[in-house]
Amino acid sequence: MPGSRAAESVSVRRVVVVGGSTAGSTAMRELRRRGFDGELVLVDPARGTNRPPLSKAVLAADMPDESVLIDHSSIDAQHVLAAAVGLDTCARVLTTADGAEHPYDALVIASGSTARRIAAAGQRGELVLRTLDDARTLRHRLTSSSSVVVVGGGFLGMEVATAAATAGATVTVVDVEPPLRRVLGAHLAADLLARAEATGVRFVQSTAVLVGEPVTGVELADGSTLTADAVVSCVGDIPATAWLDGTGLPTAHGIEIDMSARTSVADVYAIGDVAAVRSGHDVRRAPYWANAVTQARVAAAAILGQDVEDPIVDHYFWTEIAGVSVKAVGPLPVAGVPTTFEDAGDGHGILTWDGPTVVAYGVRRSVPKLRATARGLTEASV
Ligand SMILES: Cc1cc2nc3c(=O)[nH]c(=O)nc-3n(C[C@H](O)[C@H](O)[C@H](O)COP(=O)(O)OP(=O)(O)OC[C@H]3O[C@@H](n4cnc5c(N)ncnc54)[C@H](O)[C@@H]3O)c2cc1C
Repeated sequence: MPGSRAAESVSVRRVVVVGGSTAGSTAMRELRRRGFDGELVLVDPARGTNRPPLSKAVLAADMPDESVLIDHSSIDAQHVLAAAVGLDTCARVLTTADGAEHPYDALVIASGSTARRIAAAGQRGELVLRTLDDARTLRHRLTSSSSVVVVGGGFLGMEVATAAATAGATVTVVDVEPPLRRVLGAHLAADLLARAEATGVRFVQSTAVLVGEPVTGVELADGSTLTADAVVSCVGDIPATAWLDGTGLPTAHGIEIDMSARTSVADVYAIGDVAAVRSGHDVRRAPYWANAVTQARVAAAAILGQDVEDPIVDHYFWTEIAGVSVKAVGPLPVAGVPTTFEDAGDGHGILTWDGPTVVAYGVRRSVPKLRATARGLTEASV
């Protein structure tokens, strides 16, 4: 990999960060915390967004912008309010939509991802959830709809289904796989689905094709149609890399990074939802909040030639579905039946799996405490 650590630590005087949401803003704070006193330039046409509340608190109630938009004012950085549109990795210059050029010693790409859509070209009316505007639109539609179809039974789809059921709508989730199984494993997935069904959410295992103009429902694999007042696609996200086309940076499934968040191009780092971590032959995106944070910390240390203490993947994930908060520390999905480490009744408690993975299921428990429990289990098993 070009660019030695020693060379980086003495020569980096100007860092440009593309994207100022969770990953980008954490990288900037971490650079300053680690003593970087050179120029820091943030390129983002918008204010950053902390996305997890968008499918929870923001769907449940009117929330002020400030509760989810990220405040960069305490970071000593210049904010260029324009999109990055080009990159010359030989000259080390980033170009923004306003035509300005931004030279860098190190570039951090934190441009995140966008919601994947399944509507046909030109077909209107598909709802998605990625931005604050999406969340506000969706909240309005959920509260004014008596029937909702959610395509996709991942954590996001099930959070949207929870909000729709709470708002009083008849909710159908359609997915080719049982909801949540790929994210959480069969045990937790089955329990959460049963709890969601008890609140009136129905699950249909099928492919779904959006029908109507604007969208009025979905056609299932058996040819039948489900109509609904609102149809929401929660079918994954696409790394925001279109602006890098033609720059020579490989972006097929996200920007590939190593354990130090370095890309294949010297002095270019990628972090958060836009990045895919290579581990051996495995290259994988893990678009979760904790990974955006840990990769930002790793990149900041690597840029400054300092020791990287944090792992590039942080096995911490949480969600809230059918009234149950799920906080997991350790690898997911989990296979098999858990051991109940602490029983809080009604299936709630602290659940553990070999590995170890520890889950606070419907009970409050701080992340450090969950991590301590996981450490204790590891020590007990050796
Ligand atoms: C609704 C929702 C709920 C979620 N809930 C959870 C949860 O409960 N638990 C969990 O672990 N994870 C959750 N996630 C995932 C988590 O929010 C993401 O992993 C995290 O937001 C990724 O942050 P990021 O900074 O990498 O990307 P993003 O948040 O996508 O930010 C990318 C930034 O880049 C900017 N940008 C894009 N293109 C350009 C460009 N060309 N030039 C300049 N700037 C650009 C954008 O304006 C944006 O500010 C949720 C995600 C969503 C959408």
